[in-house]
Amino acid sequence: MMSKENEYIKIKENIVFVKDKTENNWRVVIPEKIVHMLTSETHEIMGHAGRYKTYYALKGMCIFKNMHKITAAVIKNCDSCQRSKPINYQASGPTISQKPKTPFETVSIDLMGPLPMGRGGTQYILAILDTFSKYIRLYALKKASAKAILNRIEVDYIPRTGKPQSILTDNGTQFTGKLWQKKRNDMNIKIKHSTKYHPQSNPVERYNREIGRLLRTYCHNQHTKWPNCLEKIEEWMNKVRSEVTEMTPWEIIKGETPKQPLEDMINFPRPKQSKKEDIIQLVASRIEEKARKRESKKKNQSNIIYEKGQSVLVRDHHLSNTDNKEIKKLFHMYNGPFIITKVISKNTLAVKNIHSGREELINVSEVRPYYVMDKHNNL
Ligand SMILES: [Zn+2]
Repeated sequence: MMSKENEYIKIKENIVFVKDKTENNWRVVIPEKIVHMLTSETHEIMGHAGRYKTYYALKGMCIFKNMHKITAAVIKNCDSCQRSKPINYQASGPTISQKPKTPFETVSIDLMGPLPMGRGGTQYILAILDTFSKYIRLYALKKASAKAILNRIEVDYIPRTGKPQSILTDNGTQFTGKLWQKKRNDMNIKIKHSTKYHPQSNPVERYNREIGRLLRTYCHNQHTKWPNCLEKIEEWMNKVRSEVTEMTPWEIIKGETPKQPLEDMINFPRPKQSKKEDIIQLVASRIEEKARKRESKKKNQSNIIYEKGQSVLVRDHHLSNTDNKEIKKLFHMYNGPFIITKVISKNTLAVKNIHSGREELINVSEVRPYYVMDKHNNL
């Protein structure tokens, strides 16, 4: 390295750090021969995160040539990812845009399970997501009851994470009962229900897929050990950059950049921390901007036309009917395939379960087309 130390280059203990004008963080210059190994380990440490998250985790701490290309190649070739890839899903996200302005303005909650019974008889995962920062908390529960959920909110979530102004839930009976209503009055928390026919407007559901992927990756041969993984999964999810906020949930809530895996080995120069008000303002404007983009994109999308005889998958809301209690089978968001027996209206389809022969009416928002992929073209 020819360049002398200056404002943008620093050498500490024989390691070269650089930063550019727009960035606050110092990044370590990675020698070419360990680039693949580092990329692959970062991807693994992050619970086999996708391209976007892996790339930004790397970019946040280091610099090397062709980072985009190498990240994509490493993930495409990852054995574990290829084995545990879920059925393909719509990447469009919630249909109703949440545009919160501050942390804990709206937290959304969701229950997943039942799972194979874990430590202490736990069977459900309660996920509480702050829709502003995307900070997520995960709890293992024995029962999917209002009492159990409220207990976690009162005893742990509020004291340790924050006091929500409102809670967004679906219309599951746990969330509409008397105890639930009384308690949230006592705690002075507003309730919002995501509409019955659009459960995907509850943003925490998007995170099911990710939790499922992480559980499948780490618990695939220890089906009852999943509660031990929750804390780690929660930490990973909070320390990876969100596409919406362009920050990690951790830095929005804690006001500090999360420690990167490399920091255990390398002593980075400390970056300047931004003021909390500045972070919140920046995040609010990014949420607003992304919601606007998403809405205009949606307007330009042509609606899917369904036809009689077509194969579809149907959303499995709480995954409670699964007979196969293996982690690898859980967290698939869709059941099926089903066959459309009649198109009732623009919004309603009659579908038939191929296996059980049962027929039912279903809203189109609960359905997605099902394609059988060519084995050799399975990207
Ligand atoms: Zn992987």
